[in-house]
Amino acid sequence: MYNPACRRINAAISTFLTMIKRLIKRVFGKTAPARTAGAAHVIPYEIHKVSRDGISYGARRVTDGLQAAGFKAFVVGGAVRDLLLDRQPKDFDVATDATPEEVKRVFRRARIIGRRFRLVHVMFGEETVEVSTFRRAIDAEDAETDEHGRILRDNEFGDQEQDAARRDFTANALFYDPSTQEIFDYHNGYADIRANTLRMIGDPEVRYREDPVRMLRAVRLSAKLGMKLDPSTAAPIARMKELLGNVPEARLFDEMLKLLLSGHALPCIRKLRAMELHHGMLPMLDVILEQPMGEKFVMLALQSTDQRIAEEKPASPAFLFAALLWHEVLAAWKSRQEAGERPVAAMHAAMDEVLDRQRAQLAIPRRYDTVMKELWLLQPRFEQRGGQRPFRLLALPRFRAAYDFLMLRCESGEVDAGLGAWWEEFQHAGDERRAEMLQPDSDAPKKRRRRSKKPAAAQAELPID
Ligand code: ATP
Ligand code: MG
Repeated sequence: MYNPACRRINAAISTFLTMIKRLIKRVFGKTAPARTAGAAHVIPYEIHKVSRDGISYGARRVTDGLQAAGFKAFVVGGAVRDLLLDRQPKDFDVATDATPEEVKRVFRRARIIGRRFRLVHVMFGEETVEVSTFRRAIDAEDAETDEHGRILRDNEFGDQEQDAARRDFTANALFYDPSTQEIFDYHNGYADIRANTLRMIGDPEVRYREDPVRMLRAVRLSAKLGMKLDPSTAAPIARMKELLGNVPEARLFDEMLKLLLSGHALPCIRKLRAMELHHGMLPMLDVILEQPMGEKFVMLALQSTDQRIAEEKPASPAFLFAALLWHEVLAAWKSRQEAGERPVAAMHAAMDEVLDRQRAQLAIPRRYDTVMKELWLLQPRFEQRGGQRPFRLLALPRFRAAYDFLMLRCESGEVDAGLGAWWEEFQHAGDERRAEMLQPDSDAPKKRRRRSKKPAAAQAELPID
């Protein structure tokens, strides 16, 4: 029943409560969490200021859909961390208490992926949201491990608190609920982010033993995000880095790729070197970085990749790997020629030798070989600036990438800058200027005779045979 007196009293109480809340906020500043839920601090929007508008359309549809069906659902991991750091997240992952089958039933376009640990991909136009069911870490004693303590299987479902505990860093273990705009924090990740600190959850030594890749993640994320490593998180790395040797090559490769394409490859590699972790990642990097010319070239290649990513241009892993290994190829090529092998044959053998040696350590997948070899094989052809050869080179689909590669070689001082300048001008010049630029084609008749015998062979173009 409507009672004006009651209404007035209610309004007065509500005004009073608001005043008290404001007073508390002023006295305790932004550090006081409003409430706790189980073991979690619940941080309200007023404190963290991450609005649901920062969440992608797909991730919001997924959390809304799951919550409407009666499940818990949160945006988790890197996305929450990045939003708190005022960075644009790469992607949005969702964690839920629904099983993969239950998730699939809620959405029209969803498929279950993965055999070891099943995830659901929910598709909204261009966007794919990865949804994982809360998982728990299995104690090293109960888990199946290798002889060094690396956990081989960790695919048990768990609850939200357990899901937070199995994550690596406190900053990566925050759960954001887009409908209430609250953050659930089980490990003080919010305070760590505000203090710009990356801290391992639990005992860092135990966590590195369970999964040595976490050492590389520590380096990558701290370099990429400009966060400092908490001393207890950083300390065990120096004495535990050998454990990286037991990680399957394919996993190391994935991590290496993430690092190189993070947009912060240069600071990442510097940090890896400072912590002497690069031995495990790319053993040849040791050798390469010790040659002054090699180091300069690799650093320039990393810098230009970072810049491409910053400009949202595509960055090709094959180009990067070709750059990382170039000075190895050069050295092998040179020594084979000195031993009397003919230049073209020596180049092919050098490429195979370097790729095989590298594959044994890092498992660069063979699918990159063709492009890497093409980039390497095209390099000597830039020296040929007479007759039809520059035109043929210019017409190749891979010209642009090979030219970018050449420019890095010029910049590093390995080849004369004049060569790069010539190609820069030639590719943009008109017909007349091109004709003027062409250099005398002294051995052309000999080459032409030979080419007519085997016209299709790419190596027939090499100047060095
Ligand atoms: P990025 O921005 O580079 O994607 P990320 O933290 O999101 O960084 P992902 O590899 O996408 O990294 O992993 C998503 C989340 O899964 C992490 O935030 C972390 O909570 C958890 N995670 C990933 N790898 C591990 C690991 N090796 N051990 C424990 N937790 C992990
Ligand atoms: Mg991520």
